[in-house]
Amino acid sequence: MPIKLRKEVRFAELLTPLKDYATEKQPIEHRYDPLTGRETVVTVGRFQYVKKNFESDKQAVSDVAEHTRENCPFCPARLERSTPKFPPNITAEGKFVAGESVLFPSLFAHMDYNAVAVLSREHYLAPKELAPERVYDAFRAGIAYLRRIRAVNSQALYASFMGNYFPLSGSSIIHPHMHVIASDLPFQLLRELLGRSKEYYSENGSNYWLDLIDEEQNSERHVGNIQETVWLTPFAPSNTYEVWAIDKRHSDLLDMGEEDFKPFAEGLGKVLSFYQDEQLSCFNFTLYSGPMGEDSSSHFRVGLRVLGRFGYKPPYVSDIWGLQAILMEGESYEAPEELAQKLKKYFT
Ligand SMILES: [Zn+2]
Repeated sequence: MPIKLRKEVRFAELLTPLKDYATEKQPIEHRYDPLTGRETVVTVGRFQYVKKNFESDKQAVSDVAEHTRENCPFCPARLERSTPKFPPNITAEGKFVAGESVLFPSLFAHMDYNAVAVLSREHYLAPKELAPERVYDAFRAGIAYLRRIRAVNSQALYASFMGNYFPLSGSSIIHPHMHVIASDLPFQLLRELLGRSKEYYSENGSNYWLDLIDEEQNSERHVGNIQETVWLTPFAPSNTYEVWAIDKRHSDLLDMGEEDFKPFAEGLGKVLSFYQDEQLSCFNFTLYSGPMGEDSSSHFRVGLRVLGRFGYKPPYVSDIWGLQAILMEGESYEAPEELAQKLKKYFT
């Protein structure tokens, strides 16, 4: 098995005032993603100390939901007139609708193709109310949009769904929504995953993602399987509360039937239920694809990643500090093996 799970353990030594200045040795695990080599530190000594920062303040959540309701552009009373429409070559209806989901162009785009799917009529929903149904509907609307993009621009190969929930995840609007982005230029994560997966295939003659499943299926990081999707915590998580899913069969979102998105929505629902029980209010996720319309099945697989962010609670500390923002090092405050054990019961 060519996958190597490499970590180097070091210790920070200090005399801690919390234990009458006794000597304390805190383990720092430097871990390396087996595909990309990306570095991360797992600093388990901090988890109990920072756990409170992940928890949200119920009153603050309720206050911001109320304050933003009146002028919310995504609430049913304003959605039709306050949100953009697609040009007619994308859809004559101006928007894509699937179940409760309504998808339209982002008012100020982040990417050449950038749509926003509003997930609900409700202005505020707790994390566990977002999935599976509402996220599934948004996936369906997003796929209809991506098929139209491909019809008008065959060079637009790269696409991803992206969820940002609640302000500390980077979301400027409270009302539940997610993005769909696409371009002929892959964004950084996809460029890295695709490039490395291809190299791995040429070096080993096998698909990295299927090898990873073989490697992790019986490990302490395996969380569960839902139909053809495998859920696990990554060996080298770039953030706390990070969970991945890998589709065993598909490498291109556009090869998937609507039913094939259900396991992703269902698994995401389970993770969000866990987050809510942990009192998290902010998270990010992505569902990404190999190049649309190209056969990358030899070396790639569709995947989903979700991670928890610091909670919505005064004084609103950001969990992205210099280590990630400038030094580009990942950091997880909890070992992925511990996280997987807690998550497992949501998948049984
Ligand atoms: Zn709203």
